[in-house]
Amino acid sequence: MVLGIETSCDETGVGIVRGYTLLADALASSVDEHARYGGVVPEVASRAHLEAMAPTVDRALADAGVTLSDVDAIAVTAGPGLAGALLVGVAAAKAYALAAGKPLYGVNHLAAHVAVDTLEHGPLPEPAVALLVSGGHSSLLRVDDLTGGVVPLGATIDDAAGEAFDKVARVLGLPFPGGPPIDRAAREGSITIPFPRGLTGPRDLAEHRFDFSFSGLKTAVARWVEARERAGEPVPVNDVAASFQEAVCDVLTAKAVAACQEHGVQTLVVGGGVAANSRLRALAEERAAKAGITVRVPRPKLCTDNGAMVAALGSRLVSAGIAPGKLDLPADSAMPITMVTT
Ligand code: ATP
Ligand code: MG
Ligand code: FE
Repeated sequence: MVLGIETSCDETGVGIVRGYTLLADALASSVDEHARYGGVVPEVASRAHLEAMAPTVDRALADAGVTLSDVDAIAVTAGPGLAGALLVGVAAAKAYALAAGKPLYGVNHLAAHVAVDTLEHGPLPEPAVALLVSGGHSSLLRVDDLTGGVVPLGATIDDAAGEAFDKVARVLGLPFPGGPPIDRAAREGSITIPFPRGLTGPRDLAEHRFDFSFSGLKTAVARWVEARERAGEPVPVNDVAASFQEAVCDVLTAKAVAACQEHGVQTLVVGGGVAANSRLRALAEERAAKAGITVRVPRPKLCTDNGAMVAALGSRLVSAGIAPGKLDLPADSAMPITMVTT
């Protein structure tokens, strides 16, 4: 049984996993405190983690009906993420590990976003391709071994997909975080505006075939909306949301399927907060099915940041017999994906 602690951004998450079974997933979020700034404020997030940590650990233990001494190991997100936020989780995890005499694993947040799927769909067929899309990351990875063999294939060269959702929501007057309200608005709208698909031109497909770019799309949406407003015409919010969302999902799914094909991989895992998007889930299913690829997407609550994902990866590391980290392991805000555990 592994207890996992996540504090890389604005969610304080504590999960408990036995094997592939999720026993508890306690979450405290400071998202409402950031909403009025339109983005996550690092200092506010760190303070909120500090306040939420002990109660969230207690709640997870109570939900699972276990005590800290029942746990075999503690796992914590060591990076990547906000430096101050990571430090709170890592310091807490060290304190719990030391106090209870448990081994400690510092784990990679992105690998944890992939590992969480095993709680829903069981062992991951390897190799797999993972599409990770969140507020801070948009990456394509080849997962040869979840416990130590993850190869980056591509990533965003500017904004992350979730960041684009958040910025476009702001342009449309929708609340932060922008993903859920855009998803809802898009369901009421039609795909009528041909917004640009970043890095899909012939030259980009040679050089950047598995990379993403969303900053041009974000600017195109802002310009389109401004032109409408200047002309004194109403902005069709639902249609803009649907058209923007389609541009993002089109590129993400096309490149993910192409990566599977080029690498001869049969399984595509989608994770990160944007994987909660209903259109992304549907389009990934549709395109993968056509290519004979199986898609695995965990339920939305497991896609956004949580403690269960950290516990899930910890559980895989323990069963693979990987040695734990040292009790002075560092938080690394730029931890590379080639490092699954510290
Ligand atoms: P990190 O990038 O370090 O993982 P994060 O807090 O941004 O941190 P998540 O909690 O995984 O990561 O994702 C949050 C992002 O997901 C936000 O940008 C949010 O707008 C986006 N998101 C959430 N739900 C949806 C949705 N239904 N459609 C599109 N985007 C969504
Ligand atoms: Mg978050
Ligand atoms: Fe995340």
